[in-house]
Amino acid sequence: MRPQLLAEMAFFQKRARWELWCWAELPVSIEQTHGVAFNTETGATFCTCSFRPRPCVHAQAFALVVQAHGIQAFEEQSALPEWLPLAVTNISGRSKPAVAALPSADDERTIRIERGLEDLEVWLEDVLQRGIAVCAAEEPHFYLTASTRLADASMRSLSRRLRTAGEAFAQQPDEPEPFVAILADAALAIQAWNRRGRLSEAQRSDLEAFLGFTPRREAVRAAGERLSDTWAVVGVVEESLEASLRERRTWLLGAKSGRFALLQDYAFGAEDFAPTFPPGALVQGTVAYYPSAWPLRALPLEVLETLPERRVKKLPGWHILSDMTGTFARALANHPWLTALPAVLAEVLPMRGAKIFALADSAGYNIPLGEGDSLGWTLLATSEGYPITVFGEWNGERFRALSAVREGRFIPLV
Ligand SMILES: [Zn+2]
Repeated sequence: MRPQLLAEMAFFQKRARWELWCWAELPVSIEQTHGVAFNTETGATFCTCSFRPRPCVHAQAFALVVQAHGIQAFEEQSALPEWLPLAVTNISGRSKPAVAALPSADDERTIRIERGLEDLEVWLEDVLQRGIAVCAAEEPHFYLTASTRLADASMRSLSRRLRTAGEAFAQQPDEPEPFVAILADAALAIQAWNRRGRLSEAQRSDLEAFLGFTPRREAVRAAGERLSDTWAVVGVVEESLEASLRERRTWLLGAKSGRFALLQDYAFGAEDFAPTFPPGALVQGTVAYYPSAWPLRALPLEVLETLPERRVKKLPGWHILSDMTGTFARALANHPWLTALPAVLAEVLPMRGAKIFALADSAGYNIPLGEGDSLGWTLLATSEGYPITVFGEWNGERFRALSAVREGRFIPLV
């Protein structure tokens, strides 16, 4: 499309300016609006869209509109819109807009994230232009540049995931999928960050958690959604995230609410985890959820009380696998960086296929099991050919079974 066709004042809404920057919003569909800005002195442009090359057609059209109507057509405002990064406007020192007059720790963090994501975007574009396979072949540690810059910008979680996926890709170049998936997640995070003014608070929390910023425990305990229940400890799993960092996930399932709560702990180096509950136990008490568009992670509000003499004997779950995959799709629509959905599958049959183990439902569908053969054999032995109930984590590709229930008996699988 030619910019001249878009260069109509009426297309641009919420027009405003601050000093020499003019900006407006350009709705391009029912769901989508781009934020565009133009500096009348330097000619610099900005747009929240992802089209290339720059300046995009929106920014070019907006520049034409500003030039045609003059800066007077834009109402003076004391604050920049949230989607316009301060770093882009280059406004600093004495001429900072009112909102940024007193930079707080939050502002500094915002600027760090902004610069980090700008670097990441440049790197991603370079990788896509040259091709992932070419980059990997030419530079053995090509992911390290991006990962190190992200760590410098305090985005440790994204930095670590990029690095570990990059390392795995370098070792197995014929399996690029996990690495490509993290590149896609990162690209989505850049887009989400640029329009974070339009995200809900819960979605912003998910974005920040993906980048590596989680709210403090005290804040979660004070303001997080609270839920009291009798909780079944349905699975406990430890995982090494990198050489010196381990994660432990303790999954709880509320007897009354039917909701999952995830207690997540980390241990560094030789450090040990604090004791958690044994799988199969029942505990009682209140948890507070971390803010999220699909809340799972939670903290105990007080010490959860273990109910002695009682064990998990049965678990309610989905009989049809498509109920689980459909729920995961809905979850991703709300929280696109969700890595796995906890799920109880009722009356499913473990099977051994040509190469992998799988779980089949009564409708004849099956999903692959993750995590090696020994777990598959354990499940086969546990079921003895009969359908069983299995709890685990579904990541969209594989089901990682963590426990099973058969004939009133709870069986931890890890
Ligand atoms: Zn644009």
